[in-house]
Amino acid sequence: MSEVNNLAESIQGQLPGELSGWLHAAGEAARQRGLRLYLVGGVVRDLLLGRPNLDLDLVVEGDAIALAKELAGGSEMKLVTHPRFGTAGLRWGGWSVDLATARLETYARPGALPAVQPGSISDDLVRRDFTINAIAVELSPDRYGSILDPHRGRDDLAKRFIRVLHQKSFIDDATRIWRGVRYEQRLDFRLEPSTLSLLKRDIDWLDTVSGDRIRHELELVLQEEVPEKALRRAGELGALGNMHPSLRGDDWLAERFEQARLLKSPDLPAMGLYLVLLAYRLSDAESERLISYLKLPKLLARPLQAAQAIKERLAMLAAPDLAPSGIYALLHGYREPALTANVLAVSSPLVKERIRLYLSKLRAIKPALSGNDLKEMGVPEGPGIKRLLNRLRNARLDGEVKSKKDEEECVRGWGEKING
Ligand code: ATP
Repeated sequence: MSEVNNLAESIQGQLPGELSGWLHAAGEAARQRGLRLYLVGGVVRDLLLGRPNLDLDLVVEGDAIALAKELAGGSEMKLVTHPRFGTAGLRWGGWSVDLATARLETYARPGALPAVQPGSISDDLVRRDFTINAIAVELSPDRYGSILDPHRGRDDLAKRFIRVLHQKSFIDDATRIWRGVRYEQRLDFRLEPSTLSLLKRDIDWLDTVSGDRIRHELELVLQEEVPEKALRRAGELGALGNMHPSLRGDDWLAERFEQARLLKSPDLPAMGLYLVLLAYRLSDAESERLISYLKLPKLLARPLQAAQAIKERLAMLAAPDLAPSGIYALLHGYREPALTANVLAVSSPLVKERIRLYLSKLRAIKPALSGNDLKEMGVPEGPGIKRLLNRLRNARLDGEVKSKKDEEECVRGWGEKING
């Protein structure tokens, strides 16, 4: 791998024609402005590894926003600029390209975001996390495809090593601990021995990183194809324990994640379910602590809380003669991820079966009569209507009524009892 010096052919061969053509044109547009343009980061690493990756990151030695505006001009591209960071995103068709001004970063304080100023491509590569992510490819027409690899990332790709660029890397930015674990497990590489020692030495620097940033890293882990591998490794190395001391990346979790993947329900975003399973064995109080540390948005926090609430009902769900209406009463109001996580997590086959029955059938059961029908039958308006509808639903759930006519008879019967 270390002998590859030019990626022009790989770009042509591995990227869709439209994108590789566009990269040529972008390099030419930069040249006309007297600027040099580079492809950088994950896509270069993956081109060298022959892995598909259509997330293109470009770096220009100059004003990225002005160049992006020119590249987007007069076309259907959507342009989003971030003047504070000197970056721009271009989206068109199914493609997405990010363009950044080459920058020099300095860390005023560990864990804080770095101070940034414009710099050269070398400055931009030296600020990166790992050697395999610090390779650039020239897009300027005179040297199109040439590789810039000042940190010998190609050697590490060949050795299958994740290696930091300098001794203070994890101290400057401890999120790199999570990133390193993620790449190691995704690519089936190894943390290079001295990098591994630094990581172990610096594990407590994770305390300097905000919960928000850790949440972002966790979300990236949970978007991996096999997230449990990275969680197991993060557990061994102490990163998971730093997030919360009771979290485990063990066999239990791996088995549940595997089962979760087999479900592949479109209503069930995998990440939400993974997160509920990861936090499932925490106590209610521990789970709340995790939610507030990671500043989980409501959309992610609610399923965790719901799963905890369902956990408290498991003993009742195991009662021997629980009728379907009883299952409904215990599970009603909880949504899919929390329910499914419980199906995967509980060991009792009876409870599993009951939650499954609720999900597949009971939760959709409704009486045939509506509130209006009841009013027309003479039931006075008010909370009584809701009570009757609930009773009818229970009767349906337990098979006591099967048709609208049965329901009408029931309502009349109940009325007679009340009146008489
Ligand atoms: P993935 O394949 O997971 O998308 P990527 O390499 O494209 O990985 P991004 O998170 O998109 O990763 O970041 C793009 C590049 O920015 C990385 O390849 C790396 O060079 C650099 N980078 C990202 N985060 C950091 C960080 N915390 N410290 C240093 N460099 C970073």
